[in-house]
Amino acid sequence: SRQVLLARRPEGWPEHDDFEPVTRDLPELGEGEVRVANEFVSVDPYMRGKMDDRESYTPPYALGEPLTGAAVGRVVASRHPELSEGTLVLHQQGWRDAAQGRGEEFRAVPEVPDVPTSAYLGVLGGTGLTAYVGLLDIARMQPGETVFVSAAAGAVGSVVGQIARVKGAGRVVGSAGSPEKVRTLTERYGFDAGFDHHDGPAADRLAEVAPDGVDVYFDNVGGEQLEAAIGALNRYGRVACCGAISAYNATEPPLGPRNLGRVVTHSLTLRGFIVSDHLDRQPDFLEEMGPWLREGRVRAEETVVDGVEHLVDAFLVLLRGANTGKMVVRVG
Ligand code: NDP
Repeated sequence: SRQVLLARRPEGWPEHDDFEPVTRDLPELGEGEVRVANEFVSVDPYMRGKMDDRESYTPPYALGEPLTGAAVGRVVASRHPELSEGTLVLHQQGWRDAAQGRGEEFRAVPEVPDVPTSAYLGVLGGTGLTAYVGLLDIARMQPGETVFVSAAAGAVGSVVGQIARVKGAGRVVGSAGSPEKVRTLTERYGFDAGFDHHDGPAADRLAEVAPDGVDVYFDNVGGEQLEAAIGALNRYGRVACCGAISAYNATEPPLGPRNLGRVVTHSLTLRGFIVSDHLDRQPDFLEEMGPWLREGRVRAEETVVDGVEHLVDAFLVLLRGANTGKMVVRVG
């Protein structure tokens, strides 16, 4: 199995030398175990947090150990009664091309006609559920409302915008990191308008695309855009605090928004969430997302990097915005 170890903990932006690709022989298959050939593995921003030696909502990666994360693959050898060869499975032994372990660690998932198996890492997986729970349960978006999403061309953000549309948002606006991405927002995902977060004060750009203010802000980024959103929120506005990628590689904790007083004066709600605390919503999510995908109301967008040898590259450039939609690595 070709895998990637965490060689040392990154300081600030991660570099190639923080990682070590290795090839390891897999042991003989034990009773109740399966061997899986991965087809696609996921690289995600949250993995940056696990590379620090810091208490968080999940334990940090161990130094010198293979990295883990979501992966989808096919059983190629089995000593487990319920997982026969050829079964498509979703599991957490990512960052490698071949995985092996107890059958219980691998969840069989159905093939969806016309949808690539990588969708289980994106729109049909944790990414899609994050968008669904954050927008509908945490921010409680109502029909007719104005929604603002940051990192809107990314994996979570692009799905948030599309769900907002399907659920009857009045206006959907987003920010992204290049003119091409901003065009994608309106041309592919049904946003009404967008802006490039490199184009000067976010508060000014947001006021241009949402002149009547914002009711719901889906925050993937934190920092300046969070401050801009708080400044633009209408009375009783809500923020789903999903992530703060603008600070993930910072070596000093960033300053918070300077306008938190508005939380009081405008009766705002800022609510954080971790998607794994909301797995009870998975059945509802899949019941709605399946038809949305089939009917073309939601697009399963992704950026595919080819080859297990490019896993580290894919992770490094993800943090700098090289992806549109979900970033996945094809290893099969
Ligand atoms: P994305 O596909 O959105 O990829 C990350 C994107 O972040 C990049 O493409 C880049 O796009 C953008 N970005 C990077 N640096 C900055 C910056 N300084 N300012 C603004 N944008 C930046 O990743 P995901 O969809 O997987 O994750 C999005 C967010 O959701 C992350 O914060 C992640 O941690 C969070 N998350 C939270 C979960 C939860 O349970 N709470 C679950 C899953 C994800 P661009 O070119 O537009 O800058």
